[in-house]
Amino acid sequence: MATSTPTTLILGAGQAGAEVAFALRQQGYAGRVVLVGDEPGLPYQRPPLSKAYLMRKVDVDALHLRPRTAYETAAIELRTGLRAERVEPGGKRVVFSDGSVLAYDKLVFATGGRARPLQLPGLEHPERLLNLHYLRSIADVDRIHRQFHEGSRLVLIGGGYVGLEVAAAARQCGLHVTVLEALPRVLARVTAAEVSAFYERIHREAGVDIRTGTSVAGVESDPSGDAVRAIRCADGSVVAADLVVVGIGQLPNTELALRAGIAVDNGIVVDEFACTAEPDVLAAGDCTSHPNRLYGRPLRLESVPNALEQARTVAATICGVHRPHDAVPWFWSDQYDLKLQMVGLSQGHERLIVRGDPTGRSFTAFYLQDGRVIAVDAINRPQEFMIAKKLVAQRAAISPDRLGDDSLPLKSLLTTSA
Ligand code: FAD
Repeated sequence: MATSTPTTLILGAGQAGAEVAFALRQQGYAGRVVLVGDEPGLPYQRPPLSKAYLMRKVDVDALHLRPRTAYETAAIELRTGLRAERVEPGGKRVVFSDGSVLAYDKLVFATGGRARPLQLPGLEHPERLLNLHYLRSIADVDRIHRQFHEGSRLVLIGGGYVGLEVAAAARQCGLHVTVLEALPRVLARVTAAEVSAFYERIHREAGVDIRTGTSVAGVESDPSGDAVRAIRCADGSVVAADLVVVGIGQLPNTELALRAGIAVDNGIVVDEFACTAEPDVLAAGDCTSHPNRLYGRPLRLESVPNALEQARTVAATICGVHRPHDAVPWFWSDQYDLKLQMVGLSQGHERLIVRGDPTGRSFTAFYLQDGRVIAVDAINRPQEFMIAKKLVAQRAAISPDRLGDDSLPLKSLLTTSA
């Protein structure tokens, strides 16, 4: 049931959903744009949640992607606090949590992801535990803030980005911090051992108790049963806690699409134009599994640059412009005074070349496969990172000696490799 003015309905008002809406207008879309999100308030960015917002360095207004007037000016109908419950691709309509129904001409899934839940004996009702938290939303951080005080004992389950960013923020706010990581090193899934060792050293020097190879076996509640008192580890150790933050990854929000008969395989399956196999249904951001030419396989990425890039592709496709989503994945993480910028995917690398001194606070790590640069981690080297993005996009073949020679400007290697 198409309406006379074409309607694009966007489900999920996060980074990707909001970008689709504005990119549609920037690309000249004259139809109706409806942006629906189940969270309250204006669409916001998540990266500061584990950084400046957690440290109370910025207030909630600083998180908003745009002011309310921007939506009004661009004639974007923003409906928040409203959940899409059912998508009916046959009838081209969506049913919402308040019982309302909206017809669409184009539908965009931008439903993002949610924190992966911790499953443990004693954790059958995690919602009852007032000091056990996940960190995905403003509401999560506002809950964490109730116990996030100088001198409190924070236990972080998971030594990935979110866990380490929270650890850095917490130390800077005077909390006692223990990180429990099941794998033998932190950031194990995304970086080389050298980079993990660097971050472990930095955190230990800042006073964080990092315990790698330490699986969590259970939680001990206080007598009331409404708070965690300690975390029990598989090695028999017990870590006392005033608050616990779990950061063990993310699950894509794909159930709505799946129930609508749309293909899901570790994300809503889309092509390079962000289209699902269902006519007039597209998707962008953390919820998608999309082809990547550089790596020759589908990827599901959890990063702001990917959400924005793919959202612009969605808008272009809806506007009839063929603009494939063909970006090199990149990401950043801020911990203490360190800006880590990563480009490419390092899985399968055969060699690591380090430029600079990892015993200091600034270096770049190049991941090589078949003699070519497939990924780079740059720590406090933003200018090198800009060049590194090009090296990865080119899969540049550069002699390891030259890559590792900190006296040679990286830029000069780019020219010679092209
Ligand atoms: P989301 O931001 O998850 O937005 C999806 C929205 O859709 C949510 O509001 C969700 O509630 C809503 N929704 C879901 N289902 C429905 C439904 N049925 N009906 C209505 N609404 C629905 N990335 C970086 O690049 N750098 C960083 O430093 C960084 N730090 C991060 C720190 C934290 C703590 C977190 C949680 C993420 C961080 N990320 C970072 C990742 C980045 O925030 C995500 O990649 C990005 O938000 C993805 O945007 P998205 O729009 O796809 O999904």
